[in-house]
Amino acid sequence: MTIPTSEMISVEDARARILAFFERLEPEQAPVIEALGQVLAESVVAGFDIPPLDNTAMDGYAVRAADTDGASEGDPRTLTVIADLAAGYVLDTAVGEGEAVRIMTGAPIPPGADAIVPFEETDEPLREPGQAPTRGDSVGVFKAARLGANIRRRGEDIETGQAVLEAGRVMRASEIGVLSSIGRTEVSVYRRPEVAILSTGDEIVTPGEERRAGQIYDANAHSVAALVRAFGGRPRLLGIARDTVEDLTAKIHSGLDADMIVTSAGVSRGDFDVVKDVLAREGAIDFWTVRMKPGKPLAFGAFEAPDGRRVPHLGLPGNPVSSMVAFELFGRPAIFKMLGRSGWERPIVRAITRDRVVNTDGRRFYARCIVTKGEGGRYYADLTGPQGSGILTSMSAANGLTVIPEDLPHAEPGDEIDVMMIDWEHPG
Ligand code: AMP
Ligand code: MG
Repeated sequence: MTIPTSEMISVEDARARILAFFERLEPEQAPVIEALGQVLAESVVAGFDIPPLDNTAMDGYAVRAADTDGASEGDPRTLTVIADLAAGYVLDTAVGEGEAVRIMTGAPIPPGADAIVPFEETDEPLREPGQAPTRGDSVGVFKAARLGANIRRRGEDIETGQAVLEAGRVMRASEIGVLSSIGRTEVSVYRRPEVAILSTGDEIVTPGEERRAGQIYDANAHSVAALVRAFGGRPRLLGIARDTVEDLTAKIHSGLDADMIVTSAGVSRGDFDVVKDVLAREGAIDFWTVRMKPGKPLAFGAFEAPDGRRVPHLGLPGNPVSSMVAFELFGRPAIFKMLGRSGWERPIVRAITRDRVVNTDGRRFYARCIVTKGEGGRYYADLTGPQGSGILTSMSAANGLTVIPEDLPHAEPGDEIDVMMIDWEHPG
């Protein structure tokens, strides 16, 4: 894995080297409601039909369709109402010729009935909210019912024995709903990775603590922790390591039971911190210069845990924008791979830049921008302000990152560019 520090590597190369180090984690039994974003490690088979019985899709009257033949407003068919049936109850009495059962959505179809006539097609007066039901002994039907009208068939959603979800499926809200509908409370999914996060630097203070002159608050640990959670991992903060061998070593050791350790700062060339020395001494590590902007300096390697396990280590640059962009490009795929998820790529849209984007140093430029839909339904990209890698507010205003190729020295207003969408929901 050793690469001379002077060599610039591409984003793809760095990512491939990093990904080679990760594997899908083992399955666990998780509560269904907690499994959002996790991947199914089992194929789930339904033990019963859904819906479990034929039932009505409308409020109205369960009838024998033949009894309503020829009905119209001027010539209604009058049926005898023999019962009222709410959802959750079953009626054993059969609907005979000339009879009807008043029935609520979701209630099982009584024996003998073969169609549902909605209230709107009867002479039952409309009920105001809060008003008691006005069931009479008979009902006039204004319209002929088709056989099977408004009946939801038993098993029309899920049949007994059907594989409802295959192993490998990502759990979204609808999968959580499907599993719940068949009564599951737990499910086998690949475990979420625990990501230990360590900030380094004598100048860094935890928010909430007193900040002396020359000190700054720790942005990175918190933004990266939020990304870890958003990508499906479990963040664990290790705190801030002072730039001393002892403190750094101790803090790294405290994270060796995690699935991955992420440090920030101290990896740039010519740094005075002891970070690089300690990282190198505690594990195998490479310091890379990645052909990207922001986030050029990056470290990747592994620490050895007391049990001999190799704990992957991603060393992010210190500048807050760089650390977020680098975690987006390298941390996200690593977490997805541990979760067993493919598709870590963000969607790329073609957008018309309204700004001039200058990119003369041969790196891929991930500039912070906001994409909005404009004239003719086309996407437009506006840079969100100064692009210094310490200017975190311009990250906050962004919903995308431009992907300006390494060999494109500038994009002019009106040019179409690629934008990697990191947050479609950001209002813009
Ligand atoms: P370094 O890589 O240590 O040279 O850090 C690069 C820049 O990032 C410096 O201006 C640091 O003060 C800043 N920085 C490092 N760590 C953090 C952090 N956790 N939060 C905010 N800024 C940081
Ligand atoms: Mg530093």
